[in-house]
Parts: sequence; C-alpha cells; structure tokens
Amino acid sequence: MLYSYEKDVKEMGINKKIIQESVSNILVALGENPLREGLIDTPKRVANMYEEVFLGIQYTNDDIVSMFNKCFEEEQDIFLTNGIVWINDIECFSFCEHHMSLIYDMHITIGYKPLHKVIGISKIARIADMVCKRLQIQERIASDILEILGKITESNDIFIKIEGKHGCMTSRGIQKTHATTCTILTSGIFQHNPLSFNTKESGLV
Ligand SMILES: [Zn+2]
Repeated sequence: MLYSYEKDVKEMGINKKIIQESVSNILVALGENPLREGLIDTPKRVANMYEEVFLGIQYTNDDIVSMFNKCFEEEQDIFLTNGIVWINDIECFSFCEHHMSLIYDMHITIGYKPLHKVIGISKIARIADMVCKRLQIQERIASDILEILGKITESNDIFIKIEGKHGCMTSRGIQKTHATTCTILTSGIFQHNPLSFNTKESGLV
C-alpha cells in the first residue's frame, strides 16, 4: 500500500504502523521471508528504533529553541564582555537524507561569545543531539545548530565544526573507509579566520 505525506503522515507525526508495513515490504523485496524466526519482529524493532533516532523530525528549529531556552543572565559579569564558551567533541550520530545511512563517529565542536546571557552548557549538547535526530546532511546540522543557538543566546558570534564519517561513503559506493568529512560554519567574530580555530595549537579545538 502506498501512503501519502499530506494525507497519512503530516498531522500524525511518526507512524509506526506504516514503518512496520514498509519494512516488511522491503524484506520481501530483498527476497527474505519476513515470517522467519529472526525477522518476525524486525519491522516492529525498526519502527521503535526510528521513533527514537528520528525524534527530531517532530520538531521545528523554533520548537527546539523553546525546549532548551534555559539561560542565565548576569549583567555585571566580566565573562559576558570578555568570555568565550567552547565545547569540544560532542559525540553525535545522524542519518544522511540521501541514503538513510548512518553518519557516525561524529564530533561536534561548538563555541560562542555570549552577548548578555549564557545558555546551560548541557543544553548545547542537547540541541546538537536533537537536530542530529533527523534525516540530515552534515552542512544542515551545522546551520540548524547555529540558528537555534543564535536565537536562544542572541549571540551573533558562533563557531561550529563538525567531523563525521558517512556510511554511504565508507560502506558502499566509493568505500573510502577512513574518510572523514569536516564542515565549519561560523558567524560574527569567528568568520574572520575560521581555520585558525581548527587546530590543536589554537588551544580551542
Ligand atoms: Zn548519503
């Protein structure tokens, strides 16, 4: 059975029944018997897994802004005029939207210069996690984080570096198993020379 985005899914969010039916159909299309012992519960397991790993599809970037908008405002704090917050190597995974294959061994580095408030640092990691729980491309993971962090902190100075391995490149097609893709997105003060923040010598990465 064919389902449509407009009619069946748009208002309902993740529909595990459709996922189960579809995975069962894929198993048949692959030449498998979906009723054999090892596969009998596979469609259900995949539906449960998708519900977890694609949770972020349920939320817009503005929803995520509201979800993690926990800031501390300290007007006199010298940190707010001179400080930079920098978190190295937040471990994440995601799925590429072109093949639905895993983007893994991801390390996300996020820095920002507070304007007049600071966000709880665990919230930064939660924002990265949530935007990764979508069908993504690495470039958009960065722009989603930049948009959300910018709206919460009102900072115009943000640095985001993402390194990751793409299953669609390492385990199929060109099969470059060690290739790591690195993307950098910056705004404000970090735009002048973003690669200077990209080395161990900078003391930041
Ligand atoms: Zn891909």
